[in-house]
Amino acid sequence: MTHGTSPSTGELEARIARARTALAPFAAGPLGHLVDGRVLPGAGALFENRSPVDGSLLGMVRDATPDEVAQAAEAARRAFRTWRLVPGAERRRLLHRVADLIEARADEIALVECMDTGQAWRFMSKAALRGAENFRFFADRAPDAANGLSLPTDTHLNYTVRQPIGPVAVVTPWNTPFMLSTWKIAPALAAGCTVVHKPAEWSPLSAWLLAGIMREAGVPDGVVNLVNGIGDTAGKALTEHPAIRATAFIGESRTGGLVMAQGAPTLKRVHLELGGKNPVIVFDDADLDRALDAVVFMIYSLNGERCTSSSRLLVQASIHDRFVARLADRVRRLKVGHPLDPATEVGPLIHPRHCDKVLSYARIARDEGATIAVGGGRSTAPGISPQGNYVEPTLYTQARGAMRIAQEEIFGPVLTVVPFADEAEAIELANGVAYGLAGYLWTGDVGRANRVSLALDAGMIWVNSENVRHLPTPFGGMKASGIGRDGGDYSFDFYMETKNVALALGTHGIQRLGV
Ligand code: NAD
Repeated sequence: MTHGTSPSTGELEARIARARTALAPFAAGPLGHLVDGRVLPGAGALFENRSPVDGSLLGMVRDATPDEVAQAAEAARRAFRTWRLVPGAERRRLLHRVADLIEARADEIALVECMDTGQAWRFMSKAALRGAENFRFFADRAPDAANGLSLPTDTHLNYTVRQPIGPVAVVTPWNTPFMLSTWKIAPALAAGCTVVHKPAEWSPLSAWLLAGIMREAGVPDGVVNLVNGIGDTAGKALTEHPAIRATAFIGESRTGGLVMAQGAPTLKRVHLELGGKNPVIVFDDADLDRALDAVVFMIYSLNGERCTSSSRLLVQASIHDRFVARLADRVRRLKVGHPLDPATEVGPLIHPRHCDKVLSYARIARDEGATIAVGGGRSTAPGISPQGNYVEPTLYTQARGAMRIAQEEIFGPVLTVVPFADEAEAIELANGVAYGLAGYLWTGDVGRANRVSLALDAGMIWVNSENVRHLPTPFGGMKASGIGRDGGDYSFDFYMETKNVALALGTHGIQRLGV
């Protein structure tokens, strides 16, 4: 720490210096692809990757051509022949080795991720470790992934086994790219599938680190391939390629529909984790202090760029004014800043285009007759770069359920508050959107907690809690929020085929035709 600086400033400077070192390789030359264990420089168009922190150029990236995507898919197809036969215990060992290396390089991963995505260090340092946890969790399940059911009858023994579906495409978004790619790649490898991963064009860096770690851990060539590129070109080519048997996709609902259509001619299985407009419902009998902490955390953490964020607060009219006043006070105090600053709670948004989208909702809120209680504009917090994508944490109040600010996924640090009178109205409002990913509810009444949980159209409900993940539990959404579930055994249902084997005891009569 230099003289006259706060501990926070000293730590920030140290992290910026470490980030510079971690980012240097990406500035050295265009980022290409990794196919069959080799770096493929690529011949496709170049695009820029700029940091959300200050708009600086982090490096150039190649958009994979259809031919390069095909090379990656073919490499995955070839590698599948042997990888599927690798014993579960060996896959477990390799995946634990990947987890070890992620842990050893967690600092570097988090630094790169913060500078590439704008997410604050306080969250990204944990996300890197969660990536390691994802590998460990599925590593331990690899040996038993094939186990099925025994379904005997008087004449036959029936048993089921699960076998890996084949090469899979993993297509990931930019909000927490490292963690989300491990969440897909780890179960795919544990199941015995091979992978072609396409990270989001706005945040390609940590995928490269992960691919390098997997090679270093000894994952054989061709088992995990990486293609960079734009969604409409590289992403489309990958999700259409006939060698790919299934696509694990995380992204916007509209793109999910495209991925389904692109995979339809080759009958690919798809798993879609899509957008959300998740409600947090606060009843007047709730523990309001804990509810307030959770409400603030679940929309202003991770810049609000989080599929499970509770971006709609439904609050009972009887406590509305008091609760919203306390909420507004907390939102005003949120610390916007450089993502590597230990004090930062909200960092810059991923891209100028996304920033403009998020900011455009202030005009929409005003036109719709809602109140902009806090924020709504660009942030002018001290110490931030004017070239960065910083927005003010924003709170819209006095909204109604039908307004666009209460219907559309804004995907920023923006919360819309809608009052409700009673349980029935809360449920109607909560379900009155296209999405159905998560729902959060706060009440002291056990009966109500259960009634509302069962009535909400959402794949995941948290009662008196923020989003706390337990990896064996199912993760996924209903309606426009997606198709399929991840987590625990649910992941293997996607990455594996179930086969039934019927073994006769030799005692049953067989119809004799043509005798
Ligand atoms: P996006 O749909 O724009 O892009 C996601 C990925 O799809 C990127 O890699 C992109 O290049 C690729 N892509 C785009 N068009 C494609 C096409 N035609 N074919 C194949 N691939 C294509 O999403 P985004 O803006 O990167 O991410 C934000 C969205 O992701 C939000 O809607 C958010 O809610 C959602 N998300 C959902 C979850 C979940 O678990 N449900 C988790 C994180 C993010």
